[in-house]
Amino acid sequence: MSITQLSRKNIQALVPYQSARRLGGKGDVWLNANEYPISPDFSLTCQNFNRYPEAQPQAVIQGYANYAGVSAENVIVSRGGDECIELIIRAFCEPNQDAILYCPPTYGMYSVSAETCGIACKKVPLTADFQLNLGEIERQLANVKVVFVCSPNNPTGNLVKREDLIALLEMTRNRAIVVVDEAYIEFCPTASLVKELVNYPHLAIIRTLSKAFALAGLRCGFTLANPELIGILQKVIAPYPLPTPIADIAAQALSAQGLAMMQQRVKTVIANRDWLVEELNKCAIIEKVYPSEANYLLFKAKNGQQLFQYLWDNGIILRNQGSQLMLENCIRITVGTEEENQRTMQAINQFAQQGN
Ligand SMILES: *Cc1c(COP(=O)(O)O)cnc(C)c1O
Repeated sequence: MSITQLSRKNIQALVPYQSARRLGGKGDVWLNANEYPISPDFSLTCQNFNRYPEAQPQAVIQGYANYAGVSAENVIVSRGGDECIELIIRAFCEPNQDAILYCPPTYGMYSVSAETCGIACKKVPLTADFQLNLGEIERQLANVKVVFVCSPNNPTGNLVKREDLIALLEMTRNRAIVVVDEAYIEFCPTASLVKELVNYPHLAIIRTLSKAFALAGLRCGFTLANPELIGILQKVIAPYPLPTPIADIAAQALSAQGLAMMQQRVKTVIANRDWLVEELNKCAIIEKVYPSEANYLLFKAKNGQQLFQYLWDNGIILRNQGSQLMLENCIRITVGTEEENQRTMQAINQFAQQGN
């Protein structure tokens, strides 16, 4: 038997997550991973690396709870929001029996994590305006243990209507966990469902330091939920998920000064996003710029595939969404620095002038 044949069947069949890094590219304008374009500056304050870290570092948990407006018992910290996704699936879904449900086009990790765990995926596409198809979700709910909804949705950028999320929570009560992925909520904080935690014991909210906090390299994410649900995740998480240096920097990022810098970043990103929307809308080959509440924009271009390739060849790396459901000829661009945005627009306009 080959090593591959020894591996689990679902792993043999698995197509790993096509992360921006994995897709590669050669360039100096990287607007493909929804990162913040400039690194914040931190120094380690703690040097005792001989000891294991705290399992759930108190300063980080309390810092995030204060920021999110919940209690420490409502928070678990993990290696990025991505680990939260997998923890929830591992804790709630019985292999070869239960399913998760998600609504494409959306974030790719829900299906990758489920497939890794041997959990079936039910897909209920978003409507044409990228909202939930609640009727179809209800019809598909048999043996679904976890429903994932991303709001603002990646890659479309829009919010899912609050009344639909509430209707989904009512529909799934005592039946399934609803995960609302709020990775980009800092760009539209009033849309958070965090205040609904008191009403819904089956609600879990995913957060991250990778986007507005500009710390994608740190690998630090959070789940917000009621204590019973958090306690279940505590049982399955690794004993020491957060290395000491990560906890140190995360706590600093959540200080009053860290939060103020994050809010400043959000303002800058939104101003630069507005500029990009305006410029893209002036360009004849751009057929549609979708409204965004996040730090990226989805747009539809005439010959989207060729445009993506042209930019790629010129060292401007965006994220091609053309193969996703309903997103033919669509490209996602992360809002970069003013200079990066200008260079990208210049290149798009050059491509347009070549008669495309
Ligand atoms: C970036 C992102 C996450 C989490 O990313 P981490 O870097 O693992 O924290 C989760 N959901 C969505 C939709 C994202 O875009």
